[in-house]
Amino acid sequence: MTLSGPISGQTALITGASRGIGKAIALNLAEAGAEVVVNYSSSQAKAQEVVDLIEKLGGKAYALKANISDENSVNGLINGVLEKSGKIDILVNNAGITKDGLLMRMKTEDWQSVINVNLTGVFLCTKAVARPMLKQKKGRIINITSVVGLMGNAGQANYASAKAGVVGLTKSSAKEFASRGITVNAVAPGFIETDMTKDLDPEPILSAIPLGFFGSPSHIAGTVKFLASDPAAEYITGQILQVDGGMVMS
Ligand code: NAP
Repeated sequence: MTLSGPISGQTALITGASRGIGKAIALNLAEAGAEVVVNYSSSQAKAQEVVDLIEKLGGKAYALKANISDENSVNGLINGVLEKSGKIDILVNNAGITKDGLLMRMKTEDWQSVINVNLTGVFLCTKAVARPMLKQKKGRIINITSVVGLMGNAGQANYASAKAGVVGLTKSSAKEFASRGITVNAVAPGFIETDMTKDLDPEPILSAIPLGFFGSPSHIAGTVKFLASDPAAEYITGQILQVDGGMVMS
């Protein structure tokens, strides 16, 4: 049995898909019929678990290691997908890290490494898939930003700056690629329960969420699937979709 759905036959690369939100996106896109490439930087066993899970469900997937903040590594990743699958229809720029601290005490290396992964990584992956997508005259790029990039957050100057940068990158690349059949959108999650948020104090965050509960990775995955689907999202580009329980209403 093979899975079929609104993106059947398409190849989707998800960065940072070994756990958390990326894992949920990988499973969701596979269930919708896509062949899924599970990128990871260090969690090889977890990435393989995601592949095994998808195959057990009757879907197609494989894992590829790459550090998205390194240009050679990213080019190797995209070439790897093109060699194995012959095309890339959907790129989900999901991989991200945090290195929180108040600005006055933030080390320059903690500023830089978050910018390198969370912003430069999105730029490098977008640039590397642009050529094959431009040739295909079709593509979907979906960036995972954050509500923190829209509203700022004390203790996250590096992370908020990178995520705000992703908003600008999303809109600029959407404008550059629109005439070539490529859409670029972003999803801005609020507080989602993953490894990234497990050590945060939930109480003050919960009181800022009008819907009154934390999001799950599947909430983000469902939105990404919608943005990847035709014809549902074919007329949407340059948009930032907030999936945050109402935290930021603009
Ligand atoms: P997570 O559970 O910490 O998972 C992060 C993923 O990124 C892992 O698969 C990790 O793979 C990968 N990764 C990290 N550095 C990488 C690199 N240099 N190259 C390739 N892969 C790398 O995080 P998450 O909560 O699922 O977050 C996913 C995305 O959503 C991030 O962009 C995050 O900023 C964003 N987001 C999350 C929340 C939230 O509340 N959780 C809210 C807003 C936005 P390895 O384990 O192999 O390193």
